Amino acid sequence: MQELTHYIGGEHVKGTSGRFADVYNPATGEVQAKVPLASTDEVAKAVEIAAKAQPAWAATNPQRRARVMMAFVGLLNRDMDKLAEALSSEHGKTLPDAKGDVQRGLEVVEYCIGAPELLKGEYTDSAGPGIDMYSMKQPLGVTAGITPFNFPAMIPMWMFAPALACGNSFILKPSERDPSVPLMLAELMEEAGLPKGVLQVVNGDKEAVDALLHHPVVQSIGFVGSTPIAEYIYGTGCANGKRVQCFGGAKNHMIIMPDADMDQAADALIGAGYGAAGERCMAISVAVPVGDETADRLIEKLVPRIEKLKVGPYTAGNDVDYGPVVTAAAKQNILGLIQSGVDQGAELVVDGRDFSLQGYEDGFFVGPHLFDRVTPDMDIYKKEIFGPVLSTVRAGSYEEAIQLAIDHEYGNGTAIFTRDGDAARDFANRINIGMVGINVPIPVPLAYHTFGGWKKSVFGDLNQHGPDAFKFYTRTKTVTSRWPSGIKEGGEFNFRAMD
Ligand code: NAD
Repeated sequence: MQELTHYIGGEHVKGTSGRFADVYNPATGEVQAKVPLASTDEVAKAVEIAAKAQPAWAATNPQRRARVMMAFVGLLNRDMDKLAEALSSEHGKTLPDAKGDVQRGLEVVEYCIGAPELLKGEYTDSAGPGIDMYSMKQPLGVTAGITPFNFPAMIPMWMFAPALACGNSFILKPSERDPSVPLMLAELMEEAGLPKGVLQVVNGDKEAVDALLHHPVVQSIGFVGSTPIAEYIYGTGCANGKRVQCFGGAKNHMIIMPDADMDQAADALIGAGYGAAGERCMAISVAVPVGDETADRLIEKLVPRIEKLKVGPYTAGNDVDYGPVVTAAAKQNILGLIQSGVDQGAELVVDGRDFSLQGYEDGFFVGPHLFDRVTPDMDIYKKEIFGPVLSTVRAGSYEEAIQLAIDHEYGNGTAIFTRDGDAARDFANRINIGMVGINVPIPVPLAYHTFGGWKKSVFGDLNQHGPDAFKFYTRTKTVTSRWPSGIKEGGEFNFRAMD
């Protein structure tokens, strides 16, 4: 059995806590490795190393830091196949999807190559007689990030790339379900020229997270994961005086107007609802057709497409649409919610409960499901299922449809499918959700924009990547500098405006 490590001080370090978690191959259900779960002392050691390494890295000019990012992009491309294979084997997603996971992280690294430009400060010449004023963006120091299982390459890179480009050191606590790719990324950063100790990976669970949250040297915490944990980390981190940003769960609605191209809408729903087995925070999990006739046409288009979906292991290559879910517990949770939908009166139009794959009977596969006539009081509507389950809520009007999305507690992403520019504009303006697609089902913004939801999908003020990341990972220091000329005037006791 492979025993994974931490990556501390530029070395693979064995865990010393004696506690481990199993890492599965979700396609076969086999335990393929065990990952050490760090103790408070192991985290403290990483923090100590990070604090020592950070000043020299911060003093490395931004252009040189950017060159490390540039070299890292080259290495990601070189090792793309290897990274995707490791990712798929622990997560279960298909190989092309795993490459997308790496690619969407890589694009944020590319954005961070612009650090010299993005970190330029502000300067006012002659703000007063002999007085110049300038603002610098300085790194925070030791920063940390806690990431979810569903994007084990992309989300760590969304955090550590801007943190490092800004001159911080960074400690990553990845998901214990798929920790191999984060370890590989740390090695590649060093190969790209990052000094040892600037980026470290500490594997673990709540104990490691709490150690980071309570360590006085750690200046900031980034978190992506489920909403209850996001809320806990935000509260605890803020109470400990840290800068914190937490991104939580989702329930993304797609509204289908009667004038929408129904084939296009159905294709979009298939990819956005079932891709990656629905384990995406930007997955569409609720379809809201406007009017019964629209709903009937949509269901008619969806059913044959769902029945054609190919579910299988990533080793089947391009011949698979989606793979297993991440763990047996995740599967049980999804099946439990499906049963609740049936019990609470939703109509299960496509029932994938008896799905089984020959040779992979112990894998964590869940067949595709489609519910119709779901109502807002049902658990399958209220809760995040995070599985290949699409719920249809029939709305009587556009107003009813938009109100549903407005009233839902989550606000990560949403979409509207229509041919009517006026409806699309009205939707984009009024909806209280952070990322909106117009005839685009998964509106994940590109690296140079920012990513973030509203409502219970986020805790904190700044979004991920784009310009917000450079704000999150820096502090502003403003210097007022006076080089007097001529005769000294003596003490100044009033708080004055600049003359
Ligand atoms: P999770 O909340 O179970 O775990 C996320 C991280 O928190 C992991 O590193 C885990 O080790 C740690 N953790 C778990 N329990 C903890 C506890 N009690 N105390 C401290 N730390 C703890 O989430 P997950 O299952 O890995 O990921 C799926 C969730 O992430 C979904 O809810 C999904 O919507 C969300 N997500 C959100 C975004 C976004 O940008 N909003 C992106 C991806 C995933």
